[in-house]
Amino acid sequence: MSIAERYRQIAARKDAAALRSGRSPEEITLMAVTKTHTAEEINQAIDAGATDIGENRVQELLEKYDSVKPVRWHLIGHLQTNKVKNIIDKVVMIHSVDSMRLAKEIDKRAAAAGIVMDVLIEINSAMEDTKSGIAAEDLKDLVTEITGECANVRVRGIMCIPPMAAEPEEARPYFREAAKLFEEMKNWQLPQQRFCPDTLSMGMSGDFEVAVEEGSTIVRVGSSIFGPRNYR
Ligand SMILES: *Cc1c(COP(=O)(O)O)cnc(C)c1O
Repeated sequence: MSIAERYRQIAARKDAAALRSGRSPEEITLMAVTKTHTAEEINQAIDAGATDIGENRVQELLEKYDSVKPVRWHLIGHLQTNKVKNIIDKVVMIHSVDSMRLAKEIDKRAAAAGIVMDVLIEINSAMEDTKSGIAAEDLKDLVTEITGECANVRVRGIMCIPPMAAEPEEARPYFREAAKLFEEMKNWQLPQQRFCPDTLSMGMSGDFEVAVEEGSTIVRVGSSIFGPRNYR
């Protein structure tokens, strides 16, 4: 199957999962995760309808940026503060904010660029040492601090990556927990221009349908669209 065919197949599965759970397919964005894949491969997905793509690493994003057709870029991997300046004018959203220090750097660079950057807070659902992200119980303090101090950052919701699992169903409790947290967030009284919780980023190749059933608004799918990754 070509990348275009696989992209359309995943989009159809995402839409079917939405309908099955009584949701509207347009509520959920399919992001194509492009790490290790070439600009040419990415353009094939864009031609098939991809509107949003996700890269993990700043360097890789920059290498491909000029060769990829116009599309909405998302930064989904761990972001070092010294690299924020390189992507601030290239991405529409940063999914991996997990400290005040990073938020402040994003704020400073966004202000210099004359924009407001949309961000998600990354939750480390199972508190795995190997993953970044904050504990669920620290979310409110961090969001309160960011919205209090960062005029050029807008918190749009949360991102989570559940532990690796053999079966998609094993991710469901983590997705449900994240969805509950996301619903709680919506009740927080914080400055509206800096806080607009409408995005729940969860679900990958192995479990995106479960994530849609549990309330995801953006699924991040890589290998099911582009095939296996060869890390160089
Ligand atoms: C690589 C990656 C994905 C996509 O993973 P697949 O299993 O290939 O779909 C999603 N989210 C993040 C943060 C990733 O790093």
